Amino acid sequence: MKLTRHPEYQHVYVSNGDAAARCQEAVAAWKINSDTIDVPDYALQWTYESAQTFVQQLSQLFQAYNQVLWKTFHYCRECGGQCCVVDASNVRAFDLLAIALLDLQAPVLPTNITARERECIYLMNHRCSWPEAWRTIKCWSFYCLGVSPRKPDDSIGKLYIAITRELQHIVCKHLPNQLRQYEHVHGVLLTDYLDDPVRFSDKLHIALDEIFIAPLAKRYPIIDIQERQHSFIDGTEHVSDGIDEILATIADVAEQVSEYPISLLTTLRISPEQVLSDLESLQWIVEGHPSNSQQMLQDIYGRYADSSIDDGSEAGVILSEMCRLLLRIQQTIL
Ligand code: SF4
Ligand code: SF4
Repeated sequence: MKLTRHPEYQHVYVSNGDAAARCQEAVAAWKINSDTIDVPDYALQWTYESAQTFVQQLSQLFQAYNQVLWKTFHYCRECGGQCCVVDASNVRAFDLLAIALLDLQAPVLPTNITARERECIYLMNHRCSWPEAWRTIKCWSFYCLGVSPRKPDDSIGKLYIAITRELQHIVCKHLPNQLRQYEHVHGVLLTDYLDDPVRFSDKLHIALDEIFIAPLAKRYPIIDIQERQHSFIDGTEHVSDGIDEILATIADVAEQVSEYPISLLTTLRISPEQVLSDLESLQWIVEGHPSNSQQMLQDIYGRYADSSIDDGSEAGVILSEMCRLLLRIQQTIL
């Protein structure tokens, strides 16, 4: 597909490219001035070099974290990256500052890209085009149980706890001192949020904003970038586009299930009534934000992850579509 025709071209790719250039300028100016940035609320002082070390430590933390996800557990290996969907990358100011501090660049994509319409624009030939030393914090943090079948007696809760524990161990071991200081001041532990990776990523960004980005922005003009980030990347205009698309997909799948020939219904391992009921629940999660959204989503996800059929049949397509929809809702709404 032509790069310019991808749904994320303008509000993700172009916007992030502009913001990345501003971050590179701010970081280059800091390097030349070589001044120290005080953060009295956290008893911290940043130099250009200490910020570089900090980012390198975070890069090592997340590389170790992803080694666990891809080597200790089988879910990501077997799934191969189905979370790389539209709206998933969630590039934030810290991601762009981090790549500038690592002397790297945000992806520059060719005129013709391999990502399909519903895939993340940064997916090139089934691989992420962000530098290996810095994916986005959101992408690096995310984990789930994938789509491979599980044993009937597996408890989803227990499977998640096993991953969370391993990741807590990694984060405890590699967390840079500046973030430990944030934890100390606020009386929190970032690892407590790891049972929900999207929330963990958000909490980490809040901490990074407070200890690093806000103090840096007072000295260097990256505040514009933060505003852009808020309006273009985290902003309501984009989120509402994402919600509209998710609701349209829910309607599409419901139509496919309703029109499915009666003779073929038996090939679905979940009854069509159950699929339609789950689609209604998903619509309620997206529109109503019930307090038990996370639990509802996990229950529904368990049904489809256990039942996916990868045989190209219409039933298989519907079940795969449900899995992708669930991942997308988890990535963008919760
Ligand atoms: S890992 Fe890369 S390709 Fe996947 S969603 Fe994140 S930015 Fe996109
Ligand atoms: S969808 Fe889940 S299992 Fe698959 S690669 Fe992403 S995090 Fe791993």
